[in-house]
Amino acid sequence: MITSKVRRVPVAYLPTPLVEMERLSQELGGPRLFVKRDDQTGLATGGNKARKLEYLIAEALDEGADTVLTVGAAQSNHSRQTAAAAAMYGLRCILILQGSGPADWSGNLLLDDLLGAQVHWAGDNPLHESMMEVAVEEESAGRHPYLIPVGGSNPTGALGYVAAMEELAGQLKERDLHADAIVFASSSGGTQAGMIVGAEALGFDGRVAGISVARTKSGLREILQELVPQTAEILGLDLSFDETDFVVYDDYVGEGYGVMGAPEREAIRLVARIEGILVDPVYTGRAMAGLLDLIRSGAFGSGETVIFWHTGGIPALFAYGEGLIKAIP
Ligand SMILES: *Cc1c(COP(=O)(O)O)cnc(C)c1O
Repeated sequence: MITSKVRRVPVAYLPTPLVEMERLSQELGGPRLFVKRDDQTGLATGGNKARKLEYLIAEALDEGADTVLTVGAAQSNHSRQTAAAAAMYGLRCILILQGSGPADWSGNLLLDDLLGAQVHWAGDNPLHESMMEVAVEEESAGRHPYLIPVGGSNPTGALGYVAAMEELAGQLKERDLHADAIVFASSSGGTQAGMIVGAEALGFDGRVAGISVARTKSGLREILQELVPQTAEILGLDLSFDETDFVVYDDYVGEGYGVMGAPEREAIRLVARIEGILVDPVYTGRAMAGLLDLIRSGAFGSGETVIFWHTGGIPALFAYGEGLIKAIP
């Protein structure tokens, strides 16, 4: 294993299933479609951060930390999964969240509370700065905080998706499948960076195509250009990357991060009805809307095989329920 030299602790339920979506493929008259179910990683309703947290929590424990700090939006899936992983390992967890606290503790916020995390509202202050302030307070109270950046997207976290690519490559080989593309929601870049490193190291020749949920193509690529080589370096891999390795679609950002529009609604309702699979309003619904559009506009041939990598986000459905229900024609 490429990743075996770095310590990880068990957090996620692995391997996640790789499942064919025959009905969706038929509906679209499109390519052969599979879904990689990282919404089923466990960790208080699953998601992609579980894989990153295997390496991040290991590092926290190695450093002798007793408290984990991280940042996010109010409905951050990353924060909820961090709270769950901290609970599994007996660590305190403080979440520094954007805004001043909603009236409604639903979705991920409810779970953060149940999982025993303390929530610190950052108002409009930059999240990283607020986290540094909380870290100083914690240290002066005699504690040992371990800081995780937004989305768990540093080179340590990205290792989770290098390992995930090894897992997928094994599943493809076992079933004698070839994937022409992997499509998924990309935001803080750790997932995509790990996949890119894994793909290059394993000689995976499909496209690793991130659907940006917030940033412009150039903004996300800048992050990847930094994170990808740093991640390869931890593993001692001597790889070279070029522009063609950083595939980003930024056409589906709509009204911006976390603003659900008609394309997300359509994608959520279609995939639920046709496949019995839930995707979320912020990430996977947007990525699925992007995939539907790419298929409809002929970006993938009907003879191709495409994997939708489901990154989770299910609790946010409950925070956006009203907008979804009202969309019933
Ligand atoms: C965090 C998240 C992503 C994006 O992953 P990054 O590594 O931040 O790019 C995608 N989907 C869901 C559901 C997430 O919570």
